[in-house]
Amino acid sequence: MQREETDGIVISCDFCGTDWDEVKPMVEGHRGAVLCLTCLMHAVEQIEVPETSDADSTTGKFTCPLCRRENIPADVPRWSHPNHGDAIACEDCIRQADGAFGKDPDVDYVSRLDD
Ligand SMILES: [Zn+2]
Ligand SMILES: [Zn+2]
Repeated sequence: MQREETDGIVISCDFCGTDWDEVKPMVEGHRGAVLCLTCLMHAVEQIEVPETSDADSTTGKFTCPLCRRENIPADVPRWSHPNHGDAIACEDCIRQADGAFGKDPDVDYVSRLDD
């Protein structure tokens, strides 16, 4: 996400809240939503369909800040940072980010999710 500071716009990861240092690899989703490489690495390891008790009390549906899709069904695998549980990345975005980081010659990352 982006926020205005006195010295300009600061970009930070929507999932862990880390401010971007202009070096750290990140992928951008819609409307300035950002996922950093560290979060992606956690996401590919921890992506899962939550137990029903963890999901939203009535529907389990969620909104992904990266693709802006709403009402994503409860059985779609997703990932959220343990400290920022309200930002939830959907499987599609995690796969896309995995592919994007994997293809980027400047990023030391090997794609881990098969298409
Ligand atoms: Zn992050
Ligand atoms: Zn998404």
